[in-house]
Amino acid sequence: MKAKKQFAVIGLGRFGSSVAITLHEAGHEVLAIDMDEERTQRISEQVTHVVQADTTDENSLKALGLRNFDVVVVAIGEDIQANTMTTLLLKELGVKYIVAKARNLLHGKMLEKIGADRVVYPERDMGQRVAHNLVSRNVLDYIELSPNLSLVEVTTPLALTGKSLAEANLRMKYGINVVAIKRGEQIIVPPLPTEIMHKDDILIIVGNNTGISQLEALE
Ligand code: ATP
Repeated sequence: MKAKKQFAVIGLGRFGSSVAITLHEAGHEVLAIDMDEERTQRISEQVTHVVQADTTDENSLKALGLRNFDVVVVAIGEDIQANTMTTLLLKELGVKYIVAKARNLLHGKMLEKIGADRVVYPERDMGQRVAHNLVSRNVLDYIELSPNLSLVEVTTPLALTGKSLAEANLRMKYGINVVAIKRGEQIIVPPLPTEIMHKDDILIIVGNNTGISQLEALE
């Protein structure tokens, strides 16, 4: 069994609430914090504990005992100052692992400088996923691994159906690699060059963004 971890989530907007509820459903202990009482009340049945507190206030923050938590997620959105200040104070308190939500790249850089262990860009990532889904019917999921490298899940384009990986030659043509194939319940990983792509197969692909865009353009 996986070890139960202690998480705290600060800022219960859509992102923070969804992170808190998902972690709790996964069997972890979750303390959900917001300065707005209504927001804490709304989520109280779906997490372990809720606390109403303004986390930019050093004394209130200290009183929460967050030093003992495994991970603290700063999910305050609009108020960049409150988000940044909270991250800074958590760092000063010696919190082990801080995940902070950034509104944009500059804000993200600032959070990294302050000492956030992980910076996430939910709006940007979601926007990119939606955009890729809109551009291509085939794209099921899209994750940016680095500015130029992505992982996508696509249903097999008609143009590739019935071809083996060797025949399709995606690495040479587009600079992308099929790292796994999902076929119903079965996951073929890594697929051999002789593996034939079937109509309902889901291809898991890693590659540069230009190559992935070219693949997305296939019917
Ligand atoms: P989402 O897009 O995830 O819904 P958002 O970007 O709209 O979120 P906000 O609503 O601005 O985010 O902030 C999320 C929550 O953070 C709000 O419920 C707000 O009350 C809370 N919050 C803001 N500042 C503080 C603070 N200083 N201390 C505690 N909670 C705060």
